[in-house]
Amino acid sequence: MGLKDTLFMNCAEATAVVEKKRDGKLSFTEKVGLWLHTFYCRLCKAFFVQSAILDKSYHNLAQRVTDGRQTYPLDPSLKEKMKASLQEEMQK
Ligand SMILES: [Zn+2]
Repeated sequence: MGLKDTLFMNCAEATAVVEKKRDGKLSFTEKVGLWLHTFYCRLCKAFFVQSAILDKSYHNLAQRVTDGRQTYPLDPSLKEKMKASLQEEMQK
């Protein structure tokens, strides 16, 4: 992708950048491009927010399992809490 294409990415590219963010670091232009895209595209913004929340929830959960504070299967109340916070973020 050229600089202009990176800054004005389409939805498929924005999604790919969000996925890439999960694996490693984004370049400055990718960050700006993603920010610009989510500024005017509600769908990608929702995907981006969801993805960030899921990553965070997963990270917290993995930490709790490591610490022995959480067992499987998940406590239903924790599931509900995760669902509620996801829905809350989506309405922002
Ligand atoms: Zn989009």
